[in-house]
Amino acid sequence: MADPMETKESENGLEFLEEVTKNAHQIQEQVLAEILRRNAATEYLSRFLHGQTDKQSFKNNVPIVTYEDIKPYIDRIANGETSNILLADPISFFIQSSGTSGGQPKLIPMTAESFEKRMLEVTLSHPVVKKCFDGSEKGKAMTLYFIKKGIETPSGLMAKTLSTLYFTSNGFKKHAPKTCTSPIETIHCLDNKQSMYCQLLTGLLQREEVVRINSIFASVLARCIKFLEDHWKGLCSDIRTGSLSDWVIDPGCRYAVSSMLTGPNPELADTIENICGDESWEGVIKKLWPKAKYINSVITGSMSQYIPLLDFYGGGIPLVSPSYGSSESSFGINLKPLSNPFDISYTFLPSMAYFEFLPVNEDNREKAQEFHFHGVSSKGSLEVTNEDGNIVPVDLANVKVGQYYEVVVTTLTGLYRYRVGDVLKLTGFHNNSPQFQFVERRNTVLSIDMDKTSEADLLKAIRNAKLLIEPFGFVLATFSSYAETSSIPGRYVLFWELKSKASNNCPKLDAKIMEQCCCMVEESLDFTYKSLREANKIAALELRVVKHGTFDALMDFYVSKGASVNQYKTPCCIKSEEALKILNSGVIGKFFSPKTFPQVESLS
Ligand code: AMP
Repeated sequence: MADPMETKESENGLEFLEEVTKNAHQIQEQVLAEILRRNAATEYLSRFLHGQTDKQSFKNNVPIVTYEDIKPYIDRIANGETSNILLADPISFFIQSSGTSGGQPKLIPMTAESFEKRMLEVTLSHPVVKKCFDGSEKGKAMTLYFIKKGIETPSGLMAKTLSTLYFTSNGFKKHAPKTCTSPIETIHCLDNKQSMYCQLLTGLLQREEVVRINSIFASVLARCIKFLEDHWKGLCSDIRTGSLSDWVIDPGCRYAVSSMLTGPNPELADTIENICGDESWEGVIKKLWPKAKYINSVITGSMSQYIPLLDFYGGGIPLVSPSYGSSESSFGINLKPLSNPFDISYTFLPSMAYFEFLPVNEDNREKAQEFHFHGVSSKGSLEVTNEDGNIVPVDLANVKVGQYYEVVVTTLTGLYRYRVGDVLKLTGFHNNSPQFQFVERRNTVLSIDMDKTSEADLLKAIRNAKLLIEPFGFVLATFSSYAETSSIPGRYVLFWELKSKASNNCPKLDAKIMEQCCCMVEESLDFTYKSLREANKIAALELRVVKHGTFDALMDFYVSKGASVNQYKTPCCIKSEEALKILNSGVIGKFFSPKTFPQVESLS
């Protein structure tokens, strides 16, 4: 994002991080005390606290909830009741999260004060990253940012995505012209295609100034590069003639881009044409933006599937995953921007919210340990239970290295002991602040019978399988899956979009290798899956390879249903019939594991 901190502020930023991480425990106590002091009298909290404001009463009486539990309060506020039923300070607007409740985006209340704070939190990772890349403050970021139209609730309060709020904030508008290649009008254009075209065009026009490539999530950058594959000829023609294509009709885009396209530039057009006209697009980002020092995008969790693609396009430019947050709260930042993408941890900042950590249940934990510890068992009991046998969350001060937790937040904006739904693994500490690796989103599972395959299980299995296609010059661009249960027994179906390293043409697939990929996925799944498969309670896994652009069409579909381009995450598992139809319409090859399982021979 934009980098509003100058050198002095940058030093202050680093000092601030040291300070808060050293005093993590005290700050957490203060944050909770402040939240309770202000909000104990709200209708929601007084049901549980009866006027008490101390931590123990909070811990003993306030229930741990999900969005569904607080939705009735949110709905009442959205329909016009006073917001102090849930939080004492007046709500200024809602943040729309990418998560949905009954098909509707979740609405998170936001106050003016908390929003200011969130906007500052967005910039906290900047000085840390800057420190790692000499001179990165001297140029601009090639930015790929998008906004989304908000909705007005019956009460008149607006609901918008966090990124939309940030990109339309005065702070961003003030700093963007100095730090971003995209003119603000192109970011504010609501038509994603026109916006993307113009942002790529202005990024190319300023290619010599670009020192980093920025998108919020890696999926957005992957999408934009594919868009470039389809539109580079048009972009070069616009640069050559010095006039913007007629199909771009958004007045803001036309005005902003035309003022940068000051005249014909055949030299630049030739350079870009030479780069993009290459059979292989390996290293295309580095070639187009030769001074780019790093790519700044979230690449953990479900975004990790884009790492090979960005490595390929980036030609060795480091990938930096700066921070971890959600619509509900900011959580932490990556203090080691140069870490290996698969070792990234985020240091929780205790000033962001009051955090508790719910040990994940035995089943998930075992699976997680199998995945991450390679058989090294962890000592000590994770599950701190109360007298009713319920698992109770632990404070930030009491988390243990190597263990898995679901994060629970309490904020100044009406979330009290709210389960975010993310599972994290504690990897260490910076001063007294815990550092977590993002493991997975809870409840994202494929299941046919007794098997429960989580997002992390599937990612791991696919990571193993795609090693088999890499020697043949293929990159797995993106994937999804679904549980096909219309036939008995049911089976897992994977959708893969592949990219050939050598050219942008449709890859030619070798059936034997693709079948080996199916076997490798199955081999990499857990014991329950494999036993059920052996007992023929799950049928052979199917791999459907889809043509180039199919996952773009999927993203377009979700965007048309209200998802934000910035916050879009390719679903790891598809539930919607319409989405399945889109993927199925792009299928160019179907491959299966052998009927019987295990098939050791086929893997050798
Ligand atoms: P949203 O509320 O739409 O912004 O989505 C927030 C969710 O995105 C989080 O709860 C995570 O599941 C995911 N997310 C955000 N940041 C990261 C990150 N750095 N690594 C992995 N997942 C992330």
